[in-house]
Amino acid sequence: MACWGMCPGLEFVATDDLDQEFDMASGTYRDENKSKYTLGTKLTDAQCKVTDLPCTDTAVAAKRFQFKDTGNFRIALRMGGHVWDWMRVYVMQAAPESITDKAVTDGALNVDIVWAAKDGFGINTLPHTVTVARLLLEKHGLKLNVNPGTGYNASRYLGGFESGIVCTYSAGGNLDKVADAIKAKSLCRSGALTVIMANARETADASQDSGRLAGATVSQYKQVSPFVVLNLNTGSVDGATLLHEMGHAAGFCTHAKGASHFMSYGAMRNEVTKEHIKNFRESFFWSKK
Ligand SMILES: [Zn+2]
Repeated sequence: MACWGMCPGLEFVATDDLDQEFDMASGTYRDENKSKYTLGTKLTDAQCKVTDLPCTDTAVAAKRFQFKDTGNFRIALRMGGHVWDWMRVYVMQAAPESITDKAVTDGALNVDIVWAAKDGFGINTLPHTVTVARLLLEKHGLKLNVNPGTGYNASRYLGGFESGIVCTYSAGGNLDKVADAIKAKSLCRSGALTVIMANARETADASQDSGRLAGATVSQYKQVSPFVVLNLNTGSVDGATLLHEMGHAAGFCTHAKGASHFMSYGAMRNEVTKEHIKNFRESFFWSKK
């Protein structure tokens, strides 16, 4: 079922998902590639039956989609030829193993946000990636505390890195200076993972950078606990960047290719295994509530 505040010309369309391969190859969402993510051919009534659902609010339209076959599809919100939003739909006959592989636990993971760019930046990728992390963890009863919140906060400002955090340990990187600065300004407290929202890149020369870095975990410096740098400008397609980096900070090192759990390099990472939950519970940023 899907619903949206309506205006004339806005409609829901069920489409195929034939260009999913692009997500797999690209891994990171970039605005300039938007058209490549949002193609899709409208399904016929025989492939997907769409019916209106009664809704008391006349400003909202609600639709039911019944897909006939198993596979990957999309529901897109279109205005004429433009796609305003879309979501991927997986139609399967049995629950994937990972859904039955659930651990239910308690407590919370604690994340403290720091801003290394002044207000007024273009995209803030934080609210999306926090929501994704929260939804995935809450399936297991684990809360995510984000202090003080997902909006820009001047009282949590780390000056001196406006021109960028260069996430490399080799020459030209400035992660050592970031570690020193968060320590000196007491922007890292025990029991919480410090997450720095920054104009982040991988190369010292900004013009040489691919712009694809979504996040990095820094665990090399003795003066501070591991911390995370997230790129304000680039998120991942599935929004799993924060949870992925939280995994690295908790000591998970293994990536799997193309898989669907959050530590993999897949494009649709929406699973957290029992083992991950157990390990998160032992991390330095877990607390009882
Ligand atoms: Zn990783």
